[in-house]
Amino acid sequence: MKAIISDIHGNLEALNAVLEDIRKRDIDQIICLGDMVGYGPSPVECLNIARDFSVSILGNHEEATLFRAGSRDFRVRAEMAIEWTKKQLFDRDQQSSEQSLKFLHNLQETYHDGDEFYVHGSPRQPLRDYVYPKDIQNHRKMGEIFSRVTKFCFCGHTHLPGVFRDDGTFTHPEDLPTGVYLTGKEKVMVNVGSVGQPRDGDRRSCYVTFDGDAVVFRRVEYNIEETVKKVYAAKELDHSLGERLRTGK
Ligand code: ZN
Repeated sequence: MKAIISDIHGNLEALNAVLEDIRKRDIDQIICLGDMVGYGPSPVECLNIARDFSVSILGNHEEATLFRAGSRDFRVRAEMAIEWTKKQLFDRDQQSSEQSLKFLHNLQETYHDGDEFYVHGSPRQPLRDYVYPKDIQNHRKMGEIFSRVTKFCFCGHTHLPGVFRDDGTFTHPEDLPTGVYLTGKEKVMVNVGSVGQPRDGDRRSCYVTFDGDAVVFRRVEYNIEETVKKVYAAKELDHSLGERLRTGK
């Protein structure tokens, strides 16, 4: 069984709690859909852990950290967090910096495993495309997405978990009686939610497990105040990046 996680965003406490939950289950592969860094106060520690995952793919925050200073894609607080993240990566000892850089440079934009397609954003634009629940009404957009999907697609990026189906419906995990989505003949795109910065109003970390048929949405409590304290201690990180963790918005 696979555990699929995304958008850790430098939140070590959340990542450790999720990994502890994963260890209790029969998981043989951890697949990470990008944005391991950015926003959060522990980017280097999260990258060090991510190096051991079975697969990690590139997110827009990794791309910004590696290649772009002053990107127009980011708002001020995200931009400042990227600059701060760079400093954390490069101000460590040389060996640590080299390891992080090598890992980041080797990240692939997409990953395929049989009829499973893994991306950060969407199959149309793996790094940039945001697919929100309301986009299910946008038939052109969803058509373009599903034309690139054989059967399953897993994504992150919006931090909003749920299941998009090619029959034009979207299901929020809350509307699944047991948090389990059983797949049938339809094509699905599953947003696995965010480990380190949930935005669906539930402050617990989110990830999914997948056994080939059932997608199970899992929520995990972690020590939010510990992370908030670290955000406050880094003066380049906007306080709101800590506060939003308390509400999961
Ligand atoms: Zn993200």
